[in-house]
Amino acid sequence: MSGNPKVVVVGAGWAGLGATYQLAKQGYDVTLLEAGAQAGGLVSGWKTAGGKSVEAGIHGFWYPYRNIFSLVKELELDPFTPWTRSAQYSPAGLEVESPIFQELPRLPAPLGTLAYTKFKRLPLSDRLSALPLMYAVVDFDNSDQAWKQYDGMTARELFRQYGVSERLYRESFEPMLLVGLFAPGEQCSAAAALGMLYYFILAHQADFDVVWCRGTVGEKIFKPWCDRITGLGGKILTDRRVSDVSVDVSGKVNAVICGDESFEADAVIFAVGISGIQKIVTTSPALQKRREFRNLMNLGAVDVLAVRLWCDRKINIPRPSNACFGFDKTTGWTFFDLNALHDEFADASGSVIEVDFYHANQFLPLDNQEIIQIVQEYLTTCIPEFGNAQIIDSSVIRLPRAVTHFAPGSYQYLLRSITSFPNLYMSGDWVITNHGSWSQEKAYVTGLEAANLVIQQLGQGHMTQILPIESDETHIELARSLNQSFKSLVKSFIHNLQNS
Ligand SMILES: Cc1cc2nc3c(=O)[nH]c(=O)nc-3n(C[C@H](O)[C@H](O)[C@H](O)COP(=O)(O)OP(=O)(O)OC[C@H]3O[C@@H](n4cnc5c(N)ncnc54)[C@H](O)[C@@H]3O)c2cc1C
Repeated sequence: MSGNPKVVVVGAGWAGLGATYQLAKQGYDVTLLEAGAQAGGLVSGWKTAGGKSVEAGIHGFWYPYRNIFSLVKELELDPFTPWTRSAQYSPAGLEVESPIFQELPRLPAPLGTLAYTKFKRLPLSDRLSALPLMYAVVDFDNSDQAWKQYDGMTARELFRQYGVSERLYRESFEPMLLVGLFAPGEQCSAAAALGMLYYFILAHQADFDVVWCRGTVGEKIFKPWCDRITGLGGKILTDRRVSDVSVDVSGKVNAVICGDESFEADAVIFAVGISGIQKIVTTSPALQKRREFRNLMNLGAVDVLAVRLWCDRKINIPRPSNACFGFDKTTGWTFFDLNALHDEFADASGSVIEVDFYHANQFLPLDNQEIIQIVQEYLTTCIPEFGNAQIIDSSVIRLPRAVTHFAPGSYQYLLRSITSFPNLYMSGDWVITNHGSWSQEKAYVTGLEAANLVIQQLGQGHMTQILPIESDETHIELARSLNQSFKSLVKSFIHNLQNS
């Protein structure tokens, strides 16, 4: 090897940028190839022809996103709003208001979440029907074994099996699945549901607290971050769609193929989403030869729709971020008061509203006008003042097969960061990690993990410290250890019976 080791990273979302940044800091000759026109992946932001800021959906940063918060500090950025309160609406009106949990006296998890969330309609008896589910929460410890045990079951079956009332499921758990896992309960893996709910809501009282960027994430974080990467010597090349890799006689990947170009590499990190990797597999004879990559064709991705509306007047919106359920059976949606969140719109004379739909399959074929009409009707159901507003400008962004679908039975096909190629690593929000995080934080963490594997293999520089998630509270830890001991006892009892 002459000069600094060459690493090619494919895909410039949180995962790819995370890997590229760490490798650039350690002096690697790193090239990031991105198929789109700008970095950011699902979190991209850009300006319309009319100069208005839009993005591929609004992104929240929850309390446990320790690694992202630490990165932002390291980059000396100040992109976030203060912690915000949120609300939930159904066609019947306001259903739930969430406080800022870290400001309230801390109770053992998940009591604070249950006690401090203000449910307007849901009876206490329904809320209490969630308690037996705590056994599954304790039993699911994010281990490989736990994923295998729970992944074959749907989240719907899980909640039914543990006696969660129909109403609590419909009005609380399913809305969380629709916005957290982008799919209704009968289409979600029970393992993914338990992992996601524990990380965002149940593990510690403050976990559900959230901040938002005071502009697009593209402008507030990715732009300065990309400048830092290029300042360190990293190359970020956009409009480069990777189609294949070249493999030498020893089985190592020695180049990444991108149209007519070939980029030499001592190591490669893939940081593309599920539909991205599936497209690469269909064009890559090298990947098609490996079962683990062919099996990726069994995975799914979910449609999302991001709409931004400019209204002719200011509408009084009680909370800046709002989640909604019960409007369409299989679709969840959120709306945000951007005058309250984004600096750019703080003094605008009319409201600027972001409305994002998850599992938006049935909306994507509609034309923009039809979509905007539905959005205004839905908003009016939540906040009647929207009915009088004129929409003076709008942006509709369709994101087909954009986000990871954690379908029941999908775990067996997900990849880990280490692959059967000795120098090809995987990262992204769908890649298996023991870390325990989800969404943007998981994507970023898996990018760091892949960079660490490259550093370990090529031997230049220092591995990056990855902050673990906050440990379980003592009573959960104790319950987990008792449960494990009980399970081992039962197992050895059955084993002895069978052998006697
Ligand atoms: C509307 C919406 C709202 C969301 N809300 C939140 C939220 O509030 N909080 C949160 O934490 N998460 C949220 N998410 C999820 C979050 O966006 C993802 O978890 C995260 O961005 C995934 O990052 P990634 O790096 O794994 O992948 P991606 O962001 O998908 O990046 C992959 C990149 O690879 C590129 N690529 C694909 N194929 C190729 C190829 N052949 N060659 C080169 N490049 C290629 C793509 O263009 C893309 O830039 C939301 C997602 C959406 C769509």
